[in-house]
Parts: sequence; C-alpha cells; structure tokens
Amino acid sequence: MEERKILYRVYSEYLKEKYGEKVYKIPINLPVTCPNRDGNIAYGGCIYCGEEGAGYENLSNTLSVGQQMKENISYIRKKYKAQKFIGYFQNFTNTYMPLETFKRHVKEACIEDVVELSISTRPDCISNEYLDFLYKIKEEKGINITIELGLQSVNYHTLVKINRGHTLGEFIDGVNRIKKYDFQICAHLILNLPWDNELDVIESAKILSALNIDFVKLHSLYIEKNTVLGHQYEKGEVQLITKEEYVERVILFLEYLSPSIVMQRLIGRAPEETTLFMNWNTSWWKIRDQIEEEMAKRKVYQGEKCNYLNGPALKKFA
Ligand code: SF4
Repeated sequence: MEERKILYRVYSEYLKEKYGEKVYKIPINLPVTCPNRDGNIAYGGCIYCGEEGAGYENLSNTLSVGQQMKENISYIRKKYKAQKFIGYFQNFTNTYMPLETFKRHVKEACIEDVVELSISTRPDCISNEYLDFLYKIKEEKGINITIELGLQSVNYHTLVKINRGHTLGEFIDGVNRIKKYDFQICAHLILNLPWDNELDVIESAKILSALNIDFVKLHSLYIEKNTVLGHQYEKGEVQLITKEEYVERVILFLEYLSPSIVMQRLIGRAPEETTLFMNWNTSWWKIRDQIEEEMAKRKVYQGEKCNYLNGPALKKFA
C-alpha cells in the first residue's frame, strides 16, 4: 500500500505523539516591557508592535503567575477534560527582567500537570545565567523547556527598516546558546514584510534548517492602529502582497524547510478592532486551508527542496 505523505509537520500532532494526549497552552501575562521599547536598545519598538504585545488572549498581568495558571487551568481542565499543560510566557520579552524576578515567575508556573514551559523572548535577551536556571528547573521538576525567539526576517536591511534592534547575528548566538542546554527552539518569522521577497523566504527556510530549529511560527503581517507601520500604511508608504502571494510564499518556505521542523502556525491572527489590515479580511483558518489545498493539489511537501545541507556538492561522488 502506498504510504500517505504528510504535507507538513503539524504541532498539535507532534504534541500528541510526544505527550500521549492533547496538551493545552496556558498563556501567562507578565508585567514586562521590551528593551526595544524602553530605550535600552531602542525607543518605540518594532514598527508594527502595538501596546498589547502579542498576548491579547491573556488574563490581566496584575494577577500573579500562580493565580493566572490556576485560573486558566481550572477553566480549561473543566471545558476540555484536559490533563496536561504548557505554561506559555507569551507577551513582550519574558526574560527581560532581573534574574531573581525571572526565577520567581518561572517557579510559580511549575505546578501540577505542567509538562512544559514555553518562554517567548528576543535573541538579545538570552544569556547563560538565565538558561542555567531553566536547566535546573528541567532537571529538578522534569518540565521541558522551549524558548521562542522572534527573528521575523533574515534580511539585515529589512530588520533595520522594522527597527528590530537586533539582526541575524544575535539570533544565531541565542540559538547556539540554547542548543547547548538541549532545550527546544521555536522561531517566529513574518513572511510578507513589505521589504522582503521570495529569496528572503527561501533563505530563512535554509537558515532555520541549518540551525536545527525545532519549531516555526509563521505570521502574516497585520497592521495595528497607532503604530509606526500603521501611519506608514495610512499614508500609502507600504505595499502589501496579495493573499495569493502569501499562500505562495508559505508553500515556498515549506518546500525548502527541513522535514524535521514542526510548524506551530502558518499564519498570524489578531483582533480586528485594533487593526487597519489583517489577513486580507479572511479568517486565518481559511488561508491555512487554502495553503493545504494548494499543496495537496500540486503534490508538494515540506522538505522537498531541502537538498542544501551536508555538502550537497559532494553527492556527485557518492
Ligand atoms: S521585540 Fe516584540 S515586544 Fe519588543 S518591540 Fe518588537 S514586537 Fe514589540
């Protein structure tokens, strides 16, 4: 019988395989900011960053981490009969604080039935001291650690344009450090930044594959009101690609991406009320379905063009 090929590796299936059942992410909202907003690295932040950061589904950050975890877990446990959880430090830059404060927050998240902590941060906010502490948590409590790193683009010039405050160099340094601890890494990319083209998409897939990244979250650029990008958009200074072009970019990215990398997301999402532009006024899942339908129709799969690692020029002697 012909083996059914998977289009791309899906995170929910990966989690089920790893933990033997469905695992639920519990968002944790810390009262933190970002060195790219408070003047440490830059003022104002990335040109698309809104006041809420990424975590608009969170509980208030005036609640302690322990309270947020308990409240959310008890709700999700009842609603879905859930038994295993991932504590997800999602909003802004969750390692940007004194080490002792970081330790306190992380320890509070290590409660019963938490199997993993996922900590979202910037590549320039990773250091050995913070990773040493997380390693201790992993060893003592048996909780897996994933670090989510925003990269957004591999293109130096684009990163300057979006006022990212770091470039690929810091990302590679962060990845190398994290990998020494055997934690997993999730990289975030925006595939339709107005200054990037298909070559940047291919290069980003190649770089993440060469670095042995574990997970990827792809985002489509959404434009929030009252941001620098929002003002540029209103003045007609930025042009966005079409939905069809975004679909093509995702397929291209997946073709070049290593088949071992697991996709956590193919497209971003944000509340409509705060945005000037979001996903071409289409539900995120319709665009995901369109990507999957196109791949199935064309019979293209993740990793098909991942032939550039491990000395490809030597293959002619094999
Ligand atoms: S790194 Fe994240 S939180 Fe910081 S300014 Fe950029 S988008 Fe906002």
